Amino acid sequence: MTTCTTPDCGMEANLYICNQCINDLQAWINKVPDMMQELLITMGNLDNMRPTRNEGGNGTSTDPREPVNDHLLDLRTSLRIWENQNAEQLAHDQYAGGFINLLAKILKRAEHAIDLPEDEPQPDHEAIRERVKEIAPPMPTRQLVPWLRTNAKLTIKAKDIRNWASRGKLHPVEREPQPTYWPHEVVQAHKETRNQ
Ligand SMILES: [Zn+2]
Repeated sequence: MTTCTTPDCGMEANLYICNQCINDLQAWINKVPDMMQELLITMGNLDNMRPTRNEGGNGTSTDPREPVNDHLLDLRTSLRIWENQNAEQLAHDQYAGGFINLLAKILKRAEHAIDLPEDEPQPDHEAIRERVKEIAPPMPTRQLVPWLRTNAKLTIKAKDIRNWASRGKLHPVEREPQPTYWPHEVVQAHKETRNQ
């Protein structure tokens, strides 16, 4: 028996960290795969935000998405080390006392980085509506939700679309074999809900 090496823990431990800290560390490790996925999605979304102005520009402007993407990539690389780790095995490591802190810090930074794009101004529904009207056919919800996320940067839940349809705010184009909707009408319904 010795004392847990996690700072401020002080519990008795058989390994470098105590059982409670092993559980805590494992809980943090278990968050890693989802966070790595989230980082990837955020990177993908940033990539799809093609600059609309200054196209064919003068060659002096730098893409503002690049440093953000690099930051997300770095975080993802740091997280990969923790992927599929086993806290109990890590507890044999003489530096295990610092692991909870270390991993928690990376996850916090990743969470912060993912939230940043959403701090941007609210979407211009009118512009999105006009844009998607030109390019998108009616789609079933299953296709529509990811399509809107990628192309309009709008996160709309399938449940909301079904809800709007059942309340008559939205009318399916086809009903069989499954309901399809115009993306621009879904954008409009989303806007109206927001303004309520
Ligand atoms: Zn402990």
